Amino acid sequence: MSYSKSDFLYEGKAKRLYKVEGHDDLLWIEYKDSLTAFNALKKSSFAGKGIVNAKICIKAFESLKAKGVGNHIVRVVSDREWVVQKLEMIPLEVVVRNRVAGSLFKRLQFEEGHVLETPIVEFYLKDDEKGDPLLTDSHIRAMNIVSDEKLEELKVFGFKVNAILTEFWKTAELDLVDFKIECGFDKDQNIMLGDEISPDSCRLWDQATGKKMDKDVFRFDLGSVEESYNQILERLNK
Ligand code: ADP
Ligand code: UDP
Repeated sequence: MSYSKSDFLYEGKAKRLYKVEGHDDLLWIEYKDSLTAFNALKKSSFAGKGIVNAKICIKAFESLKAKGVGNHIVRVVSDREWVVQKLEMIPLEVVVRNRVAGSLFKRLQFEEGHVLETPIVEFYLKDDEKGDPLLTDSHIRAMNIVSDEKLEELKVFGFKVNAILTEFWKTAELDLVDFKIECGFDKDQNIMLGDEISPDSCRLWDQATGKKMDKDVFRFDLGSVEESYNQILERLNK
């Protein structure tokens, strides 16, 4: 079956979404070349960024799928376009952390890079206007975002993704410090991975040198983000 891109639906910070002709249960996702940080206060781009991220994400999704974690991809239609299952997205950013960095470093009395005894899972409200606030289980219950049962399922899901992704990034000699995923329910209410897994959404430190290779390179002007992302893809292709 071939799919056709139809009406434009939404433009986000990293992707554009379209309808798929004749398929209300699908979406057409196009990766842009833009790069944003600090809730889009800092913006940039490089040619081919969307392609690199899409390619990296496909590899991450494949490794997860091989271990039973489903994702939304139905068809890869070009280097930067996919047809995906339209999920009932959970308006939470699920963050899992193995080491202390980013907002956790700002909040708690740990050194940056401190290895956590056990991984931490956190939930943030997906709401740019509110600045994606950190939520407790009680906040999630009060807003009726998901049931307690589904929230527990989401935590288990996050830790499972973490265990698989840790091994996946090791194959590219990268240490998975933390990451964010966005999940949704399929028609049978199963939790599935939506959105993307890429150096935009994972903190990745070179195992040998500790060098930062993810979006922090752009956030904090640590060098060429283009070189860094391309290097990650090259390592995964080896
Ligand atoms: P943002 O909206 O945060 O700026 P993007 O530019 O990446 O981010 O836009 C992609 C949008 O599509 C996000 O809002 C994301 O939650 C949503 N999305 C991703 N995958 C799916 C899916 N399978 N079904 C429905 N929505 C999705
Ligand atoms: N993250 C993301 N999108 C967001 C917020 C965070 O992909 O809107 C990722 C971020 O790249 C990091 C992890 O989630 O890998 C944890 O981010 P943190 O809470 O430390 O926030 P930051 O200070 O990076 O915004």
